[in-house]
Amino acid sequence: MIFECANPDCSAVFDHRNGVLLRFPKRASDGQNPASTPAVQHFWLCAVCSQTFVLEYKDDQGVVLSLRWEKPPLAKQRRVIAAA
Ligand SMILES: [Zn+2]
Repeated sequence: MIFECANPDCSAVFDHRNGVLLRFPKRASDGQNPASTPAVQHFWLCAVCSQTFVLEYKDDQGVVLSLRWEKPPLAKQRRVIAAA
């Protein structure tokens, strides 16, 4: 059950009408029976955090919260390669 935003620095209370609800695979921990462990886990980012952050699943780390714009926007990546 989701009670609040997945961003640890945010305490927004879960509201299914706002924000983004995401589902990621869940691996059984060592010693756990995979059959008794839910295959997925749910996370929710509130409307404010979902504008700034994204949740991604990394095989080696699990679910990661990262900035939506880690790379400069495309406009800043453009370079003139031939003068007008
Ligand atoms: Zn939030």
